[in-house]
Amino acid sequence: MTWKTIDDMALAGKVVLTRVDINVPMEAGVVTDATRIEKIMPTVEDLLARGAKVILLAHFGRPKGKVVPEMSLRQVLPALETALGRSVVFMEQPTRAAIDALPQNAIVLAENTRFAPGEEANDPAMAAYLAGLGDYFCNDAFSAAHRAHASTEGIARLLPSFAGRLMAEELAALEAALGKPERPVVAVVGGAKVSTKLDLLGNLVTKVDHLVIGGGMANTFLVAQGFEVGKSLAERDMAATALDIFAKAKAAGCTIHLPVDVVVAWEFKAGAANETVEVAACPSDAMILDAGPNTVAELSRVFEACKTLIWNGPLGAFEIEPFNAATNAAAKVAADLTRAGKLVSVAGGGDTVAALNQAGAAQDFTFISTAGGAFLEWMEGKTLPGVAALG
Ligand code: ADP
Ligand code: MG
Repeated sequence: MTWKTIDDMALAGKVVLTRVDINVPMEAGVVTDATRIEKIMPTVEDLLARGAKVILLAHFGRPKGKVVPEMSLRQVLPALETALGRSVVFMEQPTRAAIDALPQNAIVLAENTRFAPGEEANDPAMAAYLAGLGDYFCNDAFSAAHRAHASTEGIARLLPSFAGRLMAEELAALEAALGKPERPVVAVVGGAKVSTKLDLLGNLVTKVDHLVIGGGMANTFLVAQGFEVGKSLAERDMAATALDIFAKAKAAGCTIHLPVDVVVAWEFKAGAANETVEVAACPSDAMILDAGPNTVAELSRVFEACKTLIWNGPLGAFEIEPFNAATNAAAKVAADLTRAGKLVSVAGGGDTVAALNQAGAAQDFTFISTAGGAFLEWMEGKTLPGVAALG
């Protein structure tokens, strides 16, 4: 699918309603991490440079259609003004008249869109009200694009719409990884449970050449193959599902890679005594907390043979040392190949981003998605309503 970007639009003198994600973490009324605010700067600055008036639409927390003062976007205003280096007009209930009265090149931050019940319900009346505030709609909130809300989907159906810089960058990266990737493609899926990532695995086996299964969810596949995994986290009732995934992969020509050696421990805690054993030798009183070095070596060979990597989920219990070793080592291999121009690497997911940062590999990846739910739904092959509405 295709979408317009800022470059396709004539914006001088226009009012551009711009959906952004500034749902930043706060403590005691102060923004503790302004990353999301910094990420929208290219879009806001470009829109202003083209002579547009910018009206920022955003949600903050989950007020569930009611006015909740602790979730007012007014609190984010100072951090937004600091990032922009200029003042921003805050409007609780914006009107077209109030917006028209502002000088050209003004920036407005509208109150939390989720204070209105019509937002999450995607009420046509709410979408019409929002659309009536401006001339164009710019969506720069990929992370909210998996929700069909009035400020993400409804409004895009009513106004000429285009993608902001961040949205366009995210879409291009995901398209390069799963849409029309350079082959062979390897996907790494790790994390805790198969049950939370079934749709993901089901979609990936039809799209990628190699699927690496790691983390706790690998244990479920090992059980399905008849291996003993002791006290490991494993969903034994999912064995049949795991066998289905093997069959689907085989039919699609996708090779599944499971751990060949594992790091086992007797306690789930940092520094716990551990041993590295062949995958067939997990003691019945121990649990698998990480993949072993032979597995990492095999993954390295797969990464080297591939041109594209897409990654969601750590290979082990990366929060507790030394069970971050396989994730760190594999991340470094991917980072090195990417830096050398041999691999396009895309990763996403809350814990995955934390793990890649911890490994010091994130900055070398081609693209790291911070979008969480929207990134996963994209990997699952689902249509994102906020993106579809831009087409
Ligand atoms: P993401 O947030 O990136 O989508 P997940 O939430 O699916 O990733 O998975 C991360 C979690 O999986 C981490 O809390 C990690 O400790 C856990 N995990 C990975 N491997 C194991 C394992 N072998 N045993 C128990 N937990 C594991
Ligand atoms: Mg998680």
